Amino acid sequence: MSDKILEVIKSAKRVAILVHESPDGDAIGSALATLLALRKINIDADAIVSEYPFMFKILDKIELFKTNSNLEYDVALVLDCSSVNRISNIDIFNKANITINIDHHDTNTSFATYNLVDRGGPACCLTLSRLFKSWNIEIDKSIGSALTTGIITDTVGFRYNNISDTYDFVSSMIKLGVDVTKLYYKILTVNTMPQFELKKIAQSRLAFYCDNKVAFTYILEEDDLKLGTKTGDHEGIIEIGKDIEGVEVSIFARFQDGKYRVSLRSNNDVDVSSIAAIFDGGGHKQASGFVTDLSLETLRDKLILEVSKRL
Ligand code: AMP
Ligand code: MN
Ligand code: MN
Repeated sequence: MSDKILEVIKSAKRVAILVHESPDGDAIGSALATLLALRKINIDADAIVSEYPFMFKILDKIELFKTNSNLEYDVALVLDCSSVNRISNIDIFNKANITINIDHHDTNTSFATYNLVDRGGPACCLTLSRLFKSWNIEIDKSIGSALTTGIITDTVGFRYNNISDTYDFVSSMIKLGVDVTKLYYKILTVNTMPQFELKKIAQSRLAFYCDNKVAFTYILEEDDLKLGTKTGDHEGIIEIGKDIEGVEVSIFARFQDGKYRVSLRSNNDVDVSSIAAIFDGGGHKQASGFVTDLSLETLRDKLILEVSKRL
């Protein structure tokens, strides 16, 4: 499949690189690395990423992202996205003659003309690192920093889904001069003051169910309005509950654009992607999410019931 994808990309007039809505570090890193890699082999490509959290501004060449585009793209390359309904800038995807899906979600629906899905892989950025090698594209420092970003964020700082390939790749990036410590700090660990205040609110609302095996918290729209926090500032909140001894499943709901966006994390054997699927979401066994119209109380009760069935 990797040779076929390269062949399709090489014969394209113009390639659009797309990611999932509310892009995280893996989506941003994947889009930036692929944009730079394709331009290196003289392919006319644009990465159309409408919005992204401020901390990614430190990435070299991220200013090449287009927030929107009226150009015609015959090939749409979708990265880090499990299904069509999560694609940002879907009109570009719909207009393309040929579509490509490169991803690592267990729940990927193989929605494109060509699908390269590394199910269960730790990050789309790691999948891409292998792909670029097989395409003989040199991973330079800028591409390497983008790929390392996706690995750091999707593994939440090497806490999830650790495989030796990840460490081999990051080790090679350190040898190349990528400042992994700086990326880790600037993208994952540092909190702005408003982020810290938001975490305090979430922590104060943390409630436990099922013999303290389930942790639940939430952020309301009014909290974000008061603090000026937005997408990207909620990273790390789900870890507060998850990192408490004995907690099997951590749940975080935040209200945005008239709906709750829900994150689920599992520390051990509970497959939270099967729970997210009930609500038309998806993700991985240990990290999943979905969006819902339900009220906070109904949502909480339904989720606790579903988790309790799996404990
Ligand atoms: P999050 O909790 O938003 O960090 O997402 C955790 C994982 O679940 C990520 O791999 C997401 O791609 C996936 N995910 C989150 N929301 C959705 C959704 N609405 N549909 C499908 N997958 C999702
Ligand atoms: Mn992602
Ligand atoms: Mn990912």
